[in-house]
Amino acid sequence: MGARSAIRLYNTMTRRKEELRPLEAGRMRIYSCGPTVYRFAHIGNLRTYMFADVLTRSLEYLGHDTHQVMNITDVGHLTDDTFDRGEDKMLVSARLEKKSPEEIAAYYTEAFMHDARMVNIQPAREYPRATAYIPQMIEIIAKLIEGGHAYEVGGTVYYDIASFPAYGRLSRNSTDQLLSGTRGEVDPRKRHPGDFTLWKAAGEHRLQVWPSPWGPGFPGWHIECSAMSISLLGDRFDIHTGGSDNVFPHHEAEIAQSEGVTGHQVVSCWVHGEHLMLSGTRMAKSAGNFFRITELVEQGFDPLAFRYLTLQAKYRTKLNFSPEAMSGADHALRQLRDRVSEWSAAPDGPRGELDQRFRAALADDLDLPAAMALVSELIRSDLAPGAKARLLIEWDRVLGLDVARSPEREALPDGAAVLLSSRERARAAKDFATADRLRSELAAMGVSVTDTPDGQKVVVRRS
Ligand code: AMP
Ligand code: ZN
Repeated sequence: MGARSAIRLYNTMTRRKEELRPLEAGRMRIYSCGPTVYRFAHIGNLRTYMFADVLTRSLEYLGHDTHQVMNITDVGHLTDDTFDRGEDKMLVSARLEKKSPEEIAAYYTEAFMHDARMVNIQPAREYPRATAYIPQMIEIIAKLIEGGHAYEVGGTVYYDIASFPAYGRLSRNSTDQLLSGTRGEVDPRKRHPGDFTLWKAAGEHRLQVWPSPWGPGFPGWHIECSAMSISLLGDRFDIHTGGSDNVFPHHEAEIAQSEGVTGHQVVSCWVHGEHLMLSGTRMAKSAGNFFRITELVEQGFDPLAFRYLTLQAKYRTKLNFSPEAMSGADHALRQLRDRVSEWSAAPDGPRGELDQRFRAALADDLDLPAAMALVSELIRSDLAPGAKARLLIEWDRVLGLDVARSPEREALPDGAAVLLSSRERARAAKDFATADRLRSELAAMGVSVTDTPDGQKVVVRRS
């Protein structure tokens, strides 16, 4: 590997591309807002996690070590709005599904990990769960009260936004504008209607309650990210990622909390990914207009075709999802793999300056569309086929498209991938009756499966 190259990223705080200098030589510390585990992640959420993944992969490719932490929100996704309506999504799901909050969280955490693997998201170094950091949250809240940044009323603690003049800087909101965003009833005990909850006194029938100096209750949503990021990455770290809807209120509040308690800047660079859209509206759990990655697989798409699709757009622009765009990406990905398999046996040769340009594209605020254009340029170039294949395989460390995957999997008929993965699970669970049944179903589709110590070997009958 060559020397470490600098990377420039667009910092939401300063509204500029800035060269990032790691606080600790050679190691970038990154905190990524992660999933709320009361429902399945949709492909919009995955776009944001893939953007964080491409960021860490690019940093690694450019020679930096990374330490990425992604939180798992396993206590209700609590905005003041939902507080006031007494509705906590974690608990609503628990009630609807007749499970405990812990069971709900474990189930959807597993589903998230599964979906993340399907789109080749490399695991973060750590996945802290919010419920494991309640003491750290309580400690920060107590210090904020001591420092005059927070106040308690009847067992609930609010952040006093008037005590933090920089509140609103990240989202470019004035305190007055922040107010206009407040909907529903506002607790009259708040000093300022925009004050947000750090700790909430437990109402009746709460399942998730913890003791605290202010009585039994549970934490607000924003405080968890201050507590986990500072506990695991220290009180100064390099990069914080999230989706653009996290800018306000979530990250604005995190800054007020983290800087309020430490007395100094904590995050060097805030980066935010733009949304995945469906017919012009943001894909969202609440709007019900979403797909899960497994649904795309059931429709016969390679899950990595979705990754391919996202790489064609800049992370800072909205991306519209459509079945046509997916088909195009799926087709292009299969062609790319065909090329790599055709060329990979050929001898290597000189690689020219394409890799330098690839690195420059990554370093320029993660310009993946430019990097993907270089993939096409490379394919059309007059480099030796062996050199092309090797360079594509090298670039795949960032792209994560499995370009070297053997094409026999490519030719799988619709629905076979789902059956194969169910069969893998059945085998792992020693449910051989199901595994045999799935083998017959696959055989009927022209896919023959044999079991080897390395897993299932698949041969597709050409028709
Ligand atoms: P949530 O589970 O709603 O907290 O969302 C998890 C992450 O996905 C957050 O970082 C959001 O910013 C992000 N997100 C939510 N909806 C979308 C979308 N349509 N496109 C991209 N990212 C999204
Ligand atoms: Zn967060």
